[in-house]
Amino acid sequence: MAGGKAYVFYLMGPSGSGKDSLLSAVRPKLKDVPVVCIHRYITRKARDGEDHVPLSVDEFHFRQRSGLFAMSWQANGYQYAVGIELQQMLDRGVSVVMNGSRAFFREACALFPGQIVPVLVTVPEATLVRRLLARSRETGTEIDARMARNREWLQVFDRQRLEQACETMIEIDNSGDIETVAETLFQSMLEHLGQPGDSAMAENPLKIIRSLYESWGHKNYGERISQLSHALQAAELARGSGLSEEMILAAYLHDIGHLLVLDRHPEYASDGRFSHEKTGAAFLQELGFNRSVTEPVAAHVDAKRYLCCIDQGYFDSLSDASRHSLEFQGGRMSQEEAEQFACRSDLEAVLQLRRFDEQAKDTEFHQGESEWVYRLMNRHLEKPREMS
Ligand code: FE
Repeated sequence: MAGGKAYVFYLMGPSGSGKDSLLSAVRPKLKDVPVVCIHRYITRKARDGEDHVPLSVDEFHFRQRSGLFAMSWQANGYQYAVGIELQQMLDRGVSVVMNGSRAFFREACALFPGQIVPVLVTVPEATLVRRLLARSRETGTEIDARMARNREWLQVFDRQRLEQACETMIEIDNSGDIETVAETLFQSMLEHLGQPGDSAMAENPLKIIRSLYESWGHKNYGERISQLSHALQAAELARGSGLSEEMILAAYLHDIGHLLVLDRHPEYASDGRFSHEKTGAAFLQELGFNRSVTEPVAAHVDAKRYLCCIDQGYFDSLSDASRHSLEFQGGRMSQEEAEQFACRSDLEAVLQLRRFDEQAKDTEFHQGESEWVYRLMNRHLEKPREMS
């Protein structure tokens, strides 16, 4: 149900309370409800069970300076953030569930007044100690100190919650069977939203995408064609070549990252200075698209860098605008990067998508209806979601 009041279900809990595992377990349940699990951007690689977008420190700072984050914080020597897509989801009546930081809770409440719903993930202290010992990253003394900090934090949290007028909260004991716990969290979120799960909610991702194209599809792509014309041309080229439905969707959606920032930061939307492909792929993944769609989207800029490295003819054929954006996208790949890229199992399809991207710039293109693409999306989103 896009359009109702939307919330940020903000998971907090001590290290070892299993927030990432809980999020992974709850995610498949969100298919038919107006709640999405949002990715974080973190300046480190993902560990087991984590599902975030890793960024270098430079990439992180660039995005931060450019206003591409809805919230950002530091913890354990790393930088964390959630992208501005969070605001767009809320604006469209879609709630978000995220792995939050306890230290940032007060600021999060101030940034989204009345929309943060704290979700306390707890486990009995003995279980927590056992998990931390099994992880063997800390000594017994360090673990004791951590337990003391956890107890102190609970008191701080109660005070902050009252200060920020966060009237409701959800408390989840994450010491039992993960499926059961995930179901409890899911039901608690639905209860908060005041609605039962309803299969009509499955329309949500489509509504979000449709609304983005309706709002911003008319904008200039940069080569005397609109964003929508470019997307549709790419999709039709993919369809005409007999590519899979996933690749047709990837072709249509490959530049959705541009649309995501158009309404907030138009100055960055067209010259490749931010990673629109990664932003777009993360957004699509949150909406429920499988990797067969999101990975080609994420790779379409690297595919250009790759082709420019191995094929001078391709480089020469690039439009001025595309050559200009290449500079911001990291330039041609080095031989080493290209060798690594060539190992992709979907290399052929990704390169084909890239060539369609270059071709989909016909200023005489007769723009027909795009309903057929939405029908493909609907079919794709109805398939079981892959676990990440
Ligand atoms: Fe494109």
